[in-house]
Amino acid sequence: MIYKDDPALIRDFLRDTSNIKSGHTPGVYFPENIEEVSALLRQGPSSGKRFVIAGNGTGTTGGRIPFGDLVIAMEKLNRIDAPMQNADNQTVMTVCAGALLEDIQKTAERFGWLYPPDPTETLCFIGSTIANNSSGARTYKYGPTRNHIARITVVLASGDILDIPRGKYCAGKDGRLSIDMPLAHKIEFNVPGYTLPLTSKHNAGYFSADEMDLIDLFIGSEGTLGVIVEADLLLVPVPEKIISCIVYFQTLEDLFLFVDQAKKNSFGVDPRALEFFDRNSLDFLREVYPEIPAGAAGAVFFEQETTMQEEDDNLEKWVELMESVNALTEESWIALDVDEQRAMRTFRHELPLQVNEWLSKQSESKISTDMAVPDSSFTELFHFYRDTCEKHGFRYIIFGHIGNAHVHLNILPSNHEEFKTAKALYHDFVEKALELGGTLSAEHGIGKLKSEYLVRMFGTKGINEMARIKKTFDPHLVLNIGNLIPEHYFKT
Ligand SMILES: Cc1cc2nc3c(=O)[nH]c(=O)nc-3n(C[C@H](O)[C@H](O)[C@H](O)COP(=O)(O)OP(=O)(O)OC[C@H]3O[C@@H](n4cnc5c(N)ncnc54)[C@H](O)[C@@H]3O)c2cc1C
Repeated sequence: MIYKDDPALIRDFLRDTSNIKSGHTPGVYFPENIEEVSALLRQGPSSGKRFVIAGNGTGTTGGRIPFGDLVIAMEKLNRIDAPMQNADNQTVMTVCAGALLEDIQKTAERFGWLYPPDPTETLCFIGSTIANNSSGARTYKYGPTRNHIARITVVLASGDILDIPRGKYCAGKDGRLSIDMPLAHKIEFNVPGYTLPLTSKHNAGYFSADEMDLIDLFIGSEGTLGVIVEADLLLVPVPEKIISCIVYFQTLEDLFLFVDQAKKNSFGVDPRALEFFDRNSLDFLREVYPEIPAGAAGAVFFEQETTMQEEDDNLEKWVELMESVNALTEESWIALDVDEQRAMRTFRHELPLQVNEWLSKQSESKISTDMAVPDSSFTELFHFYRDTCEKHGFRYIIFGHIGNAHVHLNILPSNHEEFKTAKALYHDFVEKALELGGTLSAEHGIGKLKSEYLVRMFGTKGINEMARIKKTFDPHLVLNIGNLIPEHYFKT
């Protein structure tokens, strides 16, 4: 197995997109098969070695950044098999953890299938998206990554290789889950007793449900319970046609009404994605797209799957809905063919590029939120974000997954004082979201940046339950330490 410790060659493994700059590591291993991952972890307890798992470094929370630990780079485990039927008659694609999501999407489509999860950033590894239960615009219709995983193989901290097909290992009615492994022997634990928030997306802490499936514990556990090395992804047929549109509004009240009506399927519309851009986001985009209407208070990107036969009819339904809420229908951009839809994807991806371009000229980094709330509380959280930013005179944008009551607030500080104020206010944003029954993270996860806030969300009792599960799977604490659970919880 390749091992690199030349600082110039491993520099990239000290970074992700979190802006944490203090990572350090003795070196990086590049396993080429599952056995090699297992062999590495088998060394852990006796040698005192600790490991951090590295995907492709697009994470926003420092999850893959090592602080003195060795790195296991997943990039060489990148096999993608052709789709096939599994024993349950589902169409699945077997992939290794280091395969790029973008390559997986393209391969599936070549065979006439769709892998629905679509995080905005496509240059991530599939193993990371499972470890983080990632989601994207299509999550509105299809749910997060969790809903599309039929089987995973994990290498546990003991070096045991565990295959987990959905349905094989489930907790009993007493909440106990138990497995026997050759090296770790009996692994037995209680399913966490906390309840999860009533949001349509949630990615903060270990999953919990009555009689839960072991596969769901690993999905979203941010690499703290084992290294995901392989997975069977559930595919759905590629829709015959898609209607995509960016629709502008003169007021946010009209825009919110539009979203509300679309979610209620008014006029017979059936969205698969509903994404939001506020006025400030449109100002950034106008640098590249001057045709964006000057008076627009915001925009919604929506998509609906359809057929050749029903396309006109479905489009008419959307136009009726748009007109019923005073949308700027004439100025809106409707994309019906693949090329136009690609151009629209570029438009959407231009926002982070423009923001990053602006930030690169500033000395401070952005403060961004990832909270979601139950649908009924969305406008309250939105107004809290906006009023707070206006009060402090910040430059900011609000955008994202409005269909799931999950928008990102990015504060863009222009000096250190503003940065410090915004950082302090982040605490208030978390408090507000939790007070409204929301989640600390809907998709980006906790990593090393937000573990103290996780305590606020689940309380000491909840974090202790997570720490107990972690220690059951990883008694010598060798894997992804510092992620999710604050380290001092392991001392009790
Ligand atoms: C511009 C931008 C847009 C984004 N948009 C979205 C979005 O729409 N939705 C969304 O959900 N996320 C989004 N993200 C966040 C990010 O892309 C996802 O969290 C993604 O899953 C990270 O993948 P990665 O391969 O880069 O992982 P890394 O950053 O390398 O690692 C992320 C975490 O996963 C762990 N990990 C990696 N591989 C494994 C494995 N095989 N087994 C166990 N643990 C592992 C790491 O230890 C780390 O804790 C966005 C990020 C950016 C920069």
